[in-house]
Amino acid sequence: MGVDRLGSGRGHAAEHLILAGGGHSHALVLRMWAMQPRRRPNAWITLVSRCSTALYSGMVPGLVAGLYGREDCAIDLRLLAQRAGVNFVQAEITGLDPSQRQLLLAGRPPLRFDWLSLDVGAETALSGHIGRPAAGTAAPPVAVKPLEPFLTWFEGQSVPQQLQVLGSGAAAVEVALALRARGLRPQLSTKASGLDLGSAAANRLLQRVLQQAGLWPTAGDEPSQRSISMATLACTGSRAPRWLADSGLPAGERGRVLTERSLQVLDRPRLFASGDCAVIAGAARPPSGVWAVRAAPVLAANLQRAIAGRPLRRWHPQRRALQLLGDGGVSGSPRAIALWGPLAVGPSRWLWRWKERIDRQFMARFAGLGAMHGEAMACRGCAAKVSAGPLRAALAQLQAPLQDDDAVIVARSNDGTLLLQSVDGFPALVSDPWLNGRLTTLHACSDLWACGADVASAQAVVTLPVLSDALQAELLHQSLAGVRSVLDSLGAPLLGGHTLEARDAMAGGPGMPTAGLSLMLTVNGSAPAERLWPKGPLQAGDALILSRPLGSGVLFAAAMAGAAKPQWIDQALSVMQQSQAPLVELLAAHGCRACTDVTGFGLLGHLGEMLSCSPANTAVQLDAAALARLAVPGALELLAAGHASTLAPANAGALALMEQGRVSLIHAAAPSSPEPTTLGQLLIDPQTCGPLLAALPTERASAAISTLQQHGFAQAAVIGRVHGLQS
Ligand SMILES: Cc1cc2nc3c(=O)[nH]c(=O)nc-3n(C[C@H](O)[C@H](O)[C@H](O)COP(=O)(O)OP(=O)(O)OC[C@H]3O[C@@H](n4cnc5c(N)ncnc54)[C@H](O)[C@@H]3O)c2cc1C
Repeated sequence: MGVDRLGSGRGHAAEHLILAGGGHSHALVLRMWAMQPRRRPNAWITLVSRCSTALYSGMVPGLVAGLYGREDCAIDLRLLAQRAGVNFVQAEITGLDPSQRQLLLAGRPPLRFDWLSLDVGAETALSGHIGRPAAGTAAPPVAVKPLEPFLTWFEGQSVPQQLQVLGSGAAAVEVALALRARGLRPQLSTKASGLDLGSAAANRLLQRVLQQAGLWPTAGDEPSQRSISMATLACTGSRAPRWLADSGLPAGERGRVLTERSLQVLDRPRLFASGDCAVIAGAARPPSGVWAVRAAPVLAANLQRAIAGRPLRRWHPQRRALQLLGDGGVSGSPRAIALWGPLAVGPSRWLWRWKERIDRQFMARFAGLGAMHGEAMACRGCAAKVSAGPLRAALAQLQAPLQDDDAVIVARSNDGTLLLQSVDGFPALVSDPWLNGRLTTLHACSDLWACGADVASAQAVVTLPVLSDALQAELLHQSLAGVRSVLDSLGAPLLGGHTLEARDAMAGGPGMPTAGLSLMLTVNGSAPAERLWPKGPLQAGDALILSRPLGSGVLFAAAMAGAAKPQWIDQALSVMQQSQAPLVELLAAHGCRACTDVTGFGLLGHLGEMLSCSPANTAVQLDAAALARLAVPGALELLAAGHASTLAPANAGALALMEQGRVSLIHAAAPSSPEPTTLGQLLIDPQTCGPLLAALPTERASAAISTLQQHGFAQAAVIGRVHGLQS
């Protein structure tokens, strides 16, 4: 790792700490850093996890039973990381190369680390069942761990009534009871020796509870027949993820990484591990969330100490942990059973209330992080653009015309092909530099696509925060790899560019960890002259098509205030990451004659530009219901609650188009229609990677929409019509 050339006195991070997995230990460590920033190690820190939320396992059986919703037991990792000044990378870890200090990720370049902490949990041990159906069944078993795919399966429509739960431990019992409480009739299939809950008393007690729930055969019952169509859910104990075993780290039983009492991996002082994926050498303990939670303070202290070169703390975990198992409310109101060593008590409602209080209190520790401390942060991405006012004023002073089109024609080749260029970019919208590179490139390319041009090449200017040389190299590599992930798919090379170092931004610390990172791209492309789409004129009789939803501006503004649900941001990012390159051919095939992309000025601002290229008597009727359907999930709710991007007030000038009658909103009387003011706010919401707005003859609109939908633009819709104003 390079030396901090600025000297440690300025406190800039010199090393990269990666937290792999958003398990219980890491969630608590992040919370500690958010609450007490002085306990945060002096490092550039990245959390990598499969999902944007982490599930609190103690409440998962209650979720299956229908006692809780997903939100009750999901920790918002993206928000937690942001509050702790940590970058968040949502990705699947596929391997670890300790000698190269690389964490391998699916579908994107590896991340390089100086320090690594592993808290990736465990997978269901399917020994004897892997890849083949359980006895008497047709399909391979569904594993209860990892929890996310299991819950996706469970929450989908595919759970059959006939279900076999394989397993003899606490998870199998709790899940079987929860499924029963949910109205299913699972068949519990244990080892030949029966239940295995740690003591004879526990086995007897749980057997009785299962019998009362009709999940355990009583004397005289006919052995049940397994149907060939019966699905199997495996709750058969757990093992560390296979990629961890393949990494060559010292491993104990079930592939769990062996650590010192300091949680340092044996013989790997720069690696730490906690939770179910690890165990202290010579101090075996069963995997349980309790220890993942208890390890957190020691892990937090030792990450900070190790990076600062100070002596580490040793952890002496308790030998036993109290287990509280819920019955899911299988016999009315929920009850719980307490297991402690050889003792087993319950089931009782009082124990359930106790369990619920413990679980809710755990989740409440993360709830308070939503409220933003200190000043509200200015929006990033395309919402960081300067408003239209100063731009127009400056250009007027220079007597320079305001650029009418999204891209400029820079040359005309002999065969009539037009060569176009555009430039765009902004301060990092997300803290994952690879994803940011991808989003900025898609955003910049859309200027060319909106002109009907294909992208041929690009150049990039990257501004990096003040960090060590090695960290800047890693950040630049990730950013450019994100750029390339878009350009490569278009067959467009990244020809060159420049790099700058930020002079005025803080690196790391609470808030946006990638403050100081910004990316600007020049994109070049070409279009046949007959396909060049101007912004106007719009023609009476044209239909206006929007290629995908609106609302990213308010969502990201609300995310900084801790008010956006994690799944809203997930959905918005998934829409934003879809390349709109195919739209050029698709819209051309349906007679597109004017087009723009909806970005910083919002739909109304960009529609206003189309109208300013049209005769003065041209007007547009927008369909309020269609627009409401096109809001990304959460956008209308947030706008109605008063959230807005920092650029929205400057965009509000475009609402004058409605007062002037150039744009009108046609409201169908539907009970679920949003308030007109809320819809108005959506129309001025600045968009990063926003939709294309295209005008084409009305008679071709429905065929165009079907084609777009068939090609993956599922929400493309006609949002309005162009008409002439009566003079
Ligand atoms: C149904 C059920 C009920 C349970 N109830 C309890 C209980 O009441 N009390 C209790 O103490 N224990 C309970 N457990 C056990 C508990 O789930 C685990 O012991 C606990 O979750 C371990 O925590 P962890 O921090 O090690 O990992 P986890 O909580 O499993 O977290 C691992 C994290 O890493 C992420 N991750 C994993 N692999 C990858 C990858 N390849 N790439 C990217 N990210 C990855 C995951 O998405 C997850 O966010 C239960 C288990 C089950 C199955």
